Amino acid sequence: MNTIKIHYTGRESLLPAAEIIREGGIVAFPTETVYGLGGNALDPRAAGKIYAAKGRPSDNPLIVHLADVADAEKYCHTDRLFFRIAEAFMPGPLTVILPKKELIPDNVTGGLPTVGIRVPSHRVANELISLAGLPIAAPSANLSGKPSPTSFSHIEHDLDGRVDALIDGGDCEFGVESTIIRITEEEIVLLRPGAVTVEMLSLFCDKLTVDRAVTGKFDGVPLAPGMKYRHYAPDCPLTVLDGENRAVYDFLARTSRRGVICFDEDLAHIDGEYVYSCGPVGDSLKQAQRLFSCLRAFDGLRGIDRIYARMPSRSGIGLAVFNRLVKAAGFDVRRL
Ligand code: AMP
Ligand code: MG
Repeated sequence: MNTIKIHYTGRESLLPAAEIIREGGIVAFPTETVYGLGGNALDPRAAGKIYAAKGRPSDNPLIVHLADVADAEKYCHTDRLFFRIAEAFMPGPLTVILPKKELIPDNVTGGLPTVGIRVPSHRVANELISLAGLPIAAPSANLSGKPSPTSFSHIEHDLDGRVDALIDGGDCEFGVESTIIRITEEEIVLLRPGAVTVEMLSLFCDKLTVDRAVTGKFDGVPLAPGMKYRHYAPDCPLTVLDGENRAVYDFLARTSRRGVICFDEDLAHIDGEYVYSCGPVGDSLKQAQRLFSCLRAFDGLRGIDRIYARMPSRSGIGLAVFNRLVKAAGFDVRRL
């Protein structure tokens, strides 16, 4: 397939991409979280193309992206808590799961009676949805199972030749996918942590639970189908190291043919060629921005047999960094 590449230079530059979406094609585009791979959310064939291009299991639903919160009522059954939360966090990096209306095809939601709704704040995403005049169904624009794309080079690597167009809008602001919550009248359940944090959401509801799959290995019936699949995995196996500085430095000094993902403060204490920092130890936002690039940086290297990553903080957006990292490691955490 010939893939058109569009460098964003303003609203006009998105016209060909909007046309592709209206005609049933699929386009990778930047958002404030990660790059998404989008198509018309009302067209089951467009959704089918997204699953095929990514190699994504068909029961792992897509998120429906809207230009305006006011449009949500057309596609799902909203309630009061939704609008209170939407007022605070939309547009922004939050997806809310609600009962879907008929209009949304079954394959968009992987056969579920619910739909994930998100209103991105990224200018390119918002203009693309407005210009297309349609809701855009989109998962992350990576090949299924691989780390999510946070820069144009990532989508070029994964999807060139597999989709109709790629839009270059620079690096993503947050670097981790949207927070996903399920809401009932009185309760919020966090299904995936992101830049809208537990701390922020708990101001809106007395009862907020974090699904066990966020922090532990999935076992049972998934609330968000994405929870059961291997995610974010680099080519090389990954282990998360949980320990004090000294123990971690000693362990890494004894270990050969390894790559390391660490913090800025560690760089002076760890030798070797393949040592990458995802940011200062106390800056979870920076770590979120860089995590997927760090994971991708090791792909194709021949000199290493295993990547070791330092355990991040779990507060604020740190919970999202922790969640993506342990999932990328297949929950292989080694205590030192
Ligand atoms: P991605 O952005 O690639 O991570 O894919 C979207 C994620 O949203 C998937 O992991 C899904 O499990 C989740 N999701 C989308 N729609 C729903 C839904 N109706 N119920 C639960 N989870 C959903
Ligand atoms: Mg994804």
